[in-house]
Amino acid sequence: MSRRPLIAGNWKMHKTPRETEEFIGRFGATATPHDHCDVLLIPSFTSLDRAGRLLEESNIALGAQDMHCETAGAYTGATSPLMLVACGCRYVLVGHSERRHVFGDSNDAVGRKLRVALENGLQPVLCIGELLEQRHAGHTESILEAQLSSGLEGIDDVLLARSVIAYEPVWAIGTGETATPDQAQTACAFIRAWVCARFGENSADAVRILYGGSVNPSNARDLQAQSDIDGALIGGASLDPDSFAKIILAVKGVEKRC
Ligand code: PEP
Repeated sequence: MSRRPLIAGNWKMHKTPRETEEFIGRFGATATPHDHCDVLLIPSFTSLDRAGRLLEESNIALGAQDMHCETAGAYTGATSPLMLVACGCRYVLVGHSERRHVFGDSNDAVGRKLRVALENGLQPVLCIGELLEQRHAGHTESILEAQLSSGLEGIDDVLLARSVIAYEPVWAIGTGETATPDQAQTACAFIRAWVCARFGENSADAVRILYGGSVNPSNARDLQAQSDIDGALIGGASLDPDSFAKIILAVKGVEKRC
């Protein structure tokens, strides 16, 4: 099965609403030619409303970087999935490594967020990945397995079809050290095999698995050529509209290596 690539830019804690507007203006909300892939922008919360209005008529989707697992209540500082939907979000990241390691999101909390995102009509992007010491200790697969089984707990194949998985080795995020295409492929193939065992072959064939970790215009094509990689989750290189556009172009017409 050929899966449509998804190229997503996670802006982390960068860009004011004004800077977001400038980016979208330069990137060309409707003009960017990307028939070959889906494109997703993930600004910070304060820019979502403005980005949602600017992208309304475009072929660029909007997503949020995180959400609370309740829809309303006494949760000072938190953002509800209903608020994200109202801003025009279609996607939400759950379990990004910075949420796990800086803010302490547990595997269970990530699973709850994923289920609540789906209940509220959002498409979750479940981010998983190992630390460098876990990789060196040979624990990559067991870490991914634990993150997958908690993250996708209680999900059936219909809900899985509305979800995306992003493999992001923590040691490659924001470090400039990209996983080699082989390392990324091996991990993504493991994830697909896990999905196959849990949800069946059709689900495994259909689910999109992104790679994230220092993706840039020079390495995007080789990563995308791997048979189990269906796009990229990009931090630093998505902040500049030209570099983000180059990554989108780089994955055009890539032949998969089987
Ligand atoms: C990310 O934020 O998910 C990410 C992969 O960042 P970077 O591309 O900067 O490594």
